[in-house]
Amino acid sequence: MATAVFMDLDDTVFQTMRKCRKDGGPLKAAAMAADGSPSSYFEPGQYHLLERVLSAAMLIPVTARDLEALGRVRLTFKHGAIADYGGVILDRDGRPDQSWHDRMATLCADARPILMEARDRADGLISAGRLACRARLISDLGLCFYLVIKNYNSRLEELDEIKAALTDFAGNNSLQINLNDNNLSFLPGFLNKARAVAYFMETRLKPRHGRVLTIGMGDSLGDFKFLKLCDFMLIPSRSQLADDFSPQNSCGRQ
Ligand SMILES: [Mg+2]
Repeated sequence: MATAVFMDLDDTVFQTMRKCRKDGGPLKAAAMAADGSPSSYFEPGQYHLLERVLSAAMLIPVTARDLEALGRVRLTFKHGAIADYGGVILDRDGRPDQSWHDRMATLCADARPILMEARDRADGLISAGRLACRARLISDLGLCFYLVIKNYNSRLEELDEIKAALTDFAGNNSLQINLNDNNLSFLPGFLNKARAVAYFMETRLKPRHGRVLTIGMGDSLGDFKFLKLCDFMLIPSRSQLADDFSPQNSCGRQ
């Protein structure tokens, strides 16, 4: 039976230097910044997992990265890819899935004005509060998918402020909010990794391979729905998802 690993990238199989373990052994460059300098690194265990443990499986990235940022990752994906939080699906040859793209095009056209207003509101908050944050709309193949806000001065509490200020706007306009460490994203309701993974399984894996053993890997609460579609989940023990599963949290809900 073939095995497919649907794999979030950032903070799952590599991370920025700030988040690497200090005593974790030699690091290996995993992804480059736009200027060509290394921006993220594999710890030895992460590299071993990909290169040895999972080497016989089809590795399919399921990432919020746009295509350009995905192209700066130092991994080769030969079985397709899911980018832009599920907004873009690539086939084995790196070509966009046209049917998925057409579906997204209609939905994105409706969401674009809302995302632009969210970006303008975020920019207003950033300049009024002199926050060290930057808001960016993420687009690919001519479609605008989502808004991301990052902080550039290790003052992550500033993202909490922006999130709180935009929660009502997001709720009134059906935008989901994902906040994990230095990444605050506002996503239209139709955009999610799980839908793209389900489509990929149905249209790309099943016709070609029949029954496939699937493993989902991810670190964020926002990854959970696509992990649930898979036979097994692989979650970094140091992650937002693992923290959410911790006994303290379970006890708290009883
Ligand atoms: Mg992640």
